Formats: sequence, C-alpha cells, structure tokens
Amino acid sequence: MEKGLLIVLSGPSGSGKGTVRAELMKKEHFAFSVSATTRGPREGERNDVDYHFITREAFEGKIQREEMLEYTTYNGNYYGTVKSEALEMIEAGKNLLLEIEVEGAMNVKRVYPEAVLIMLLPPSFAEQERRLRGRGTESDEIVNGRLARTYEEMEYLPHYDYVVYNENVDACAEDILSIIHAERCAMRRHPNAKEHYFGQ
Ligand code: 5GP
Repeated sequence: MEKGLLIVLSGPSGSGKGTVRAELMKKEHFAFSVSATTRGPREGERNDVDYHFITREAFEGKIQREEMLEYTTYNGNYYGTVKSEALEMIEAGKNLLLEIEVEGAMNVKRVYPEAVLIMLLPPSFAEQERRLRGRGTESDEIVNGRLARTYEEMEYLPHYDYVVYNENVDACAEDILSIIHAERCAMRRHPNAKEHYFGQ
C-alpha cells in the first residue's frame, strides 16, 4: 500500500494558519493526530480525544525513549506528537497534517525526512503587521513580541520545501492541495515504479 504523506504546516502569527487548516480539512480528508500534553484538561475536554493528558514523568519518559516525533514547551507544559501514532496513520496510507511551529517542524524533519514542510506567510511583513494590529484584541507589547518572533522564524525558511502566501484563504488551500497531489506523484516517492508497472 502507498504510504500517506506527513505534511507540516507552519506560519507566523497572523498568517491565517488555523483558517487555512480548517479550509483544507473541508476540501480533503486528512488524518489528525491527538497530541500529548502535561497540562490538565479544561472543562469539556476528553482524554485521548482532545489530548492525551499525561504526567510530566510519563512525557519525559517518552522524550528519553525517543517516542516523540516532536515536542515543545508552552506555558510550562509539554506538548507534542507521539511518533508511533503519527507513523501508523501514514503507514495506513493516510495524509497527516500537523500544524506546528518552526522548532517542532525541524524536529519532524530530523526524525522523518520524507515530511513535506510548508511555510504559510502573510502577503508581506507590512500586511502581517496590519492584520495583527487590526485585530485589536491584544496589547501593543504582545503584537510587537509576535512580530519580533517572526524575524526568528524566517531564519528557518530555507529548511522548508514550499512557501505559500496567504492572500486569500481559498486560493491558499488550493495551492497546498496542489503541493500535496504533486508530492504524491514525486518520482523519489516511487522507487519501485518500474517493477510495479511490469507487475513484478
Ligand atoms: P492549548 O493549551 O491552548 O491547548 O495549546 C497551547 C499551545 O500548544 C498551542 O499553541 C498549540 O498549538 C500548541 N500545541 C498543541 N499540541 C501541540 C503539539 O503536538 N506539538 C506542538 N509543537 N505544539 C502543540
């Protein structure tokens, strides 16, 4: 059976990642991996549905045994993708979409070099700033922090396979689907194409 693809979608704050991801999910079926976290469940969250809620000791054990595909710390808690679950879906032929930040993406690439890394960008830095300030929901300090972080994130651009500019959510989702369809046909993913063709 043909393996699925591991697609990593990253993008700075204001790139519209969440919206693009939702649009992609509407257009095509993607597998979704439940992340593990050490934070406690919020009201209404279910174990093994929203997250695998595990202890810090259990999470650190998984890190040590190299059972995490990638992980990060956020607000003092660990969050990450369990390697076996992600790879099982891919082996079963499903395309798995992970929406993660740049460090997580680099970890994925190291552990699973066949992953396809896509960077989603606002049309320009000026437009990103306009979007973030226009939201009006966060203080100047937070927005400045997010913009400063973008400079760091852009250092990772050369490690990405594709860059997509988000001028319009629909066009952007279509571009990403085109990338995925082309990647499935990439010759390097079909090393046995000749044998397959001749039925050997
Ligand atoms: P929350 O506590 O609000 O559910 O999530 C906090 C942050 O952790 C969010 O930015 C979310 O995207 C990130 N996060 C959730 N799961 C994962 C994961 O599996 N890997 C990484 N790298 N980040 C995650």
